[in-house]
Amino acid sequence: MTTIRTSCPICGDVELAPADLALRLTPCRGTGTYQFLCPHCEQLQQRPANHRVVSILLATGVAYEVVDDETPISEREITEFISGLDRENWREHLPG
Ligand SMILES: [Zn+2]
Repeated sequence: MTTIRTSCPICGDVELAPADLALRLTPCRGTGTYQFLCPHCEQLQQRPANHRVVSILLATGVAYEVVDDETPISEREITEFISGLDRENWREHLPG
């Protein structure tokens, strides 16, 4: 069975089955958020999902719903998005 490794802000790294997660997908951005119930502290956690996380979750068969992107992007989301870009070192893939 596929396990998905993510992190809980309280417990650290946790391993989940695809059925333990729910993805909310924003079609025009190709990103979204996912929710999971932490198996250790039993708190509902919500985390941002960038393109890569979205494609991993969809590939593992996580249930998802599509939400309309009507709310403006928050400053927190921008910060998380930018830190995600830094982590993935995307600049190396640009020409020039
Ligand atoms: Zn936890």
